[in-house]
Amino acid sequence: MNSADSESLARRLLAAGYVEDSLERADVAILNTCVVRQASEDRVYSKLHELKEWKTPDRTIAVTGCIVAKEGEALTRRFPHLDAVVPIGDYDAFIANLEGRYDYSLGEALPHAGRTGVSHFVRVIQGCDHNCTFCIVPRVRGREKHVPLEAVVAECRQAVADGAKEVVLLGQNVDDYHDPDGRGGLAALVRKVEKIPGLRRLRFLTSHPQDLETELLEVMAASDVVCRELQLPVQSGDDMVLRRMARGYQTRHYRAIVDRARRLMPDIGLVTDVIVGFPGESEAAYLNTRALIEEMQFDVVHIAMYSPRPGTFAATRMVDDVAQEEKLRRLNDLLALQREIAARKTARWIGRDAEVLIEGHDELNRPYGRIRQGKRANVLRGGEIAPGDVVNIRVLQATAGQLTGLLIPTNSEPAA
Ligand code: SF4
Repeated sequence: MNSADSESLARRLLAAGYVEDSLERADVAILNTCVVRQASEDRVYSKLHELKEWKTPDRTIAVTGCIVAKEGEALTRRFPHLDAVVPIGDYDAFIANLEGRYDYSLGEALPHAGRTGVSHFVRVIQGCDHNCTFCIVPRVRGREKHVPLEAVVAECRQAVADGAKEVVLLGQNVDDYHDPDGRGGLAALVRKVEKIPGLRRLRFLTSHPQDLETELLEVMAASDVVCRELQLPVQSGDDMVLRRMARGYQTRHYRAIVDRARRLMPDIGLVTDVIVGFPGESEAAYLNTRALIEEMQFDVVHIAMYSPRPGTFAATRMVDDVAQEEKLRRLNDLLALQREIAARKTARWIGRDAEVLIEGHDELNRPYGRIRQGKRANVLRGGEIAPGDVVNIRVLQATAGQLTGLLIPTNSEPAA
């Protein structure tokens, strides 16, 4: 979501004649911020402290993103060197205010990486109508606003015409998408977008176990364009904790969805989020989460230690009663468990073929990209390959996080 906002702001700045440059040479620095966890928020403050050295009367520092909704103008009192506090989406007014301040010599600036990259993020819902007790998102992003289906399709079509090969439909709870004029939900939208000529891949995130519909899984299973990856946060493997989190489902519902998805798409990549140390999470409750992770065999698990977010139900009405050291122990225990699971799962790719959408070249000049199930893949002997190409590899090596494979030349055997 933040990447999509950064893209939107950058596109507007580029259209207004600004260019990307290094921080040392730049006139304007804009921080797009996340406050979903305390650690993210702390990073914003530390960056703002660092920028004090950089600031001169001719330079502008602006902050946008969720911290603006949370802290507002209090930020300028705390950081007097901060020039502008820009609400999410209110970019045009900010850019209008900058007008005339800077006189550019465009030829001197670094070439920007190009805004029409391989993947294009399209926001289909802003905000969230759920009220998970730990989550600050509804407070900082507001209630759900759904983008009309035709507008989403038009944006995707334009992105493909501009060179994108993949579009990613975004919503805090993307499964809840429905066209405001009644033209259908996410499955209908996905059906429309996947038919855009030239589009090679379609992803959507983030799903919610309470709202994910079987119809969507069937659309995924039948499509060559929709990626075989589901981002489906479980948050806890304990029903009591899920209830206290107000997630709206129990573990048996979650298991049933995963079971349905895997029956339709046995090779589906499954990504989840887990919080450890939520208020009231006993050792037994924690072990239920551990057991669920072992049982589900996720490809990726994002694990966070609970931190109270001001203004949320959990922060105001529950006691943060799991000690920090205990949260850390649970976090490390799950990280170690998931490392083993991920290594075992990726090892199964060795000897198999996979389709890779190339995103760029690494420091060794090897092309890399992602397979349809979401894993990163490096391509050996693929020097002529460019970002946006779709190639096939035969996987030779696998680590927990990525695959490495040999390019399979079209219509022939792998290069010797
Ligand atoms: S569904 Fe996601 S974004 Fe919405 S309140 Fe729950 S955790 Fe936050």
